Amino acid sequence: MSTYTIALLAGDGIGPEIMDEAVKILRLVESRNTVTFDLKPALFGASAYFETGKSFPEESVAICDQADAILKGTIGLNHEDSKTIPVDEQPERGALLPMRRRYDTYANFRPVYLPRSLAHFSPLKAEVIGDGIDLIIIRELVGGLYFGSKKSGVDDQGRRYVHEMLEYNEDQIRRVLEVAFQLASKRKKVLHNIHKSNVLKSSVLWNEIVEEVRPSYPDIEVKHVLVDAAATYLCLDPASFDVMVMENMFGDILSDQGGGILGSLGLMPSACVGPEKSYYEPSHGSAPDIAGQGIANPYSMIGSVAMMLEMSFGMESEARNLWRAMQSVFAAGYTTPDLARRGKSEKKISTAEFGDRVATELGKQPVDN
Ligand code: NAD
Repeated sequence: MSTYTIALLAGDGIGPEIMDEAVKILRLVESRNTVTFDLKPALFGASAYFETGKSFPEESVAICDQADAILKGTIGLNHEDSKTIPVDEQPERGALLPMRRRYDTYANFRPVYLPRSLAHFSPLKAEVIGDGIDLIIIRELVGGLYFGSKKSGVDDQGRRYVHEMLEYNEDQIRRVLEVAFQLASKRKKVLHNIHKSNVLKSSVLWNEIVEEVRPSYPDIEVKHVLVDAAATYLCLDPASFDVMVMENMFGDILSDQGGGILGSLGLMPSACVGPEKSYYEPSHGSAPDIAGQGIANPYSMIGSVAMMLEMSFGMESEARNLWRAMQSVFAAGYTTPDLARRGKSEKKISTAEFGDRVATELGKQPVDN
């Protein structure tokens, strides 16, 4: 019997609602396998700030430090409400970036997956989707513009100014490229390197390191694509991509576009992998526009559980069962409202019912212990 401690950071907005479904699934996985999950809830984000004055309080840091893995819901408030929190304690700056820095979670895996049978979820035409969308974005997560030095003030002419630096060193670039090349080796052996070397010197260095790493992976075909063009090709021909690797901000933006071509950000789970600890989170935000209504899509949260089972606990076959269970719910014609399309006959269900149905489907899958 293995025991794993998991820090649960439900967060803000729809976070607690979709976390409930993740816990439902974890308890079922526990009952089906020789594993115990010690679940440790902790405050994180705006809700933590309002309760303690810190968006990543010391008690939560301690729980995360001791955990084998961290499962995070969503954080953030809507634009107006976020102004009630001092800038440095606002959830991304006060909680998310410090957590990424603390655990050095440099490799962010963001799968963008839609089988052909669910092509109607996508705003793209069926002929564009072809046999389905199945690509994965590897986003560098602890460098670049989001982590560079920052300065703001008033210049000698009395104008307010800001400097934000896009900083990378070669080691930071090399280690995430290694992850991407290794993943490409296990998939279709094609790696799309996304950059902006026609403008940014950071991309020139990035591409130099690509050429240095490449000889170790002679069977991988590397294709270089400018980030602006990549945004277009993602809409015009998503099937042309398999593994894509890019720096932090490019990955933030293109992966939300990934959610767009699938039909909802609710289909975007992710894994944030560090040398010693990893955390798992939906790629999307706290969806304040639908929070509290019980209609959020928990696929991204439950998919993040599947990634945790596989990547942190070595439970590959149960992770596969969980993906299958979620696809079975869609295949049976059920979906949360974000994916329901006009003129289609999906039965709209709540967050909790989606979780219940996934649990029922998972219960039908044989366990391979
Ligand atoms: P968002 O991702 O929260 O929402 C964008 C749109 O997608 C909304 O219409 C929302 O209803 C929908 N959506 C997102 N997830 C969904 C789900 N699971 N089911 C159904 N619909 C879903 O982006 P936003 O509105 O720009 O940001 C809201 C807050 O989230 C902000 O405070 C932002 O800073 C924060 N945020 C946090 C993270 C993170 O924690 N990693 C990421 C992005 C945004």
